[in-house]
Amino acid sequence: MLQYIQVSSRSRNELIDITDRVEDLVRKSGVSSGICHLFSLHTTSGITINEGADPDVRRDISRFLATLVPVDAPFAHGEGNSDSHVKSSLVGVSETLLIDGGRLLLGTWQAVYFCEFDGPRTRKVAVKIVADR
Ligand code: ZN
Repeated sequence: MLQYIQVSSRSRNELIDITDRVEDLVRKSGVSSGICHLFSLHTTSGITINEGADPDVRRDISRFLATLVPVDAPFAHGEGNSDSHVKSSLVGVSETLLIDGGRLLLGTWQAVYFCEFDGPRTRKVAVKIVADR
């Protein structure tokens, strides 16, 4: 079963916590044990898992990526969003999570983030939930 989560970003660079929305799809699927694969259908975004308790962590990640890949670096691509493309490849566009007991298996402090690198935009994340046989 393939489903989608629509994400609306408000800034050019932003990490958006989508944990509850993914959990919702897992709960509705009725799968108690299996995997949940997330795939962002864009070239200037990413998916990552990191701390969800302290919002400073997501800000630090955004800021550090901006320092690592400056928007005004001498890129060849003419759209003005080459930094966004590079960040997308650095972070990656997918994550695979485990489902255990009908819930995502996450550490106490872990959250699932959609990473916007060229917002604000409306984005789509494909979600594939597969049950154990
Ligand atoms: Zn581009």
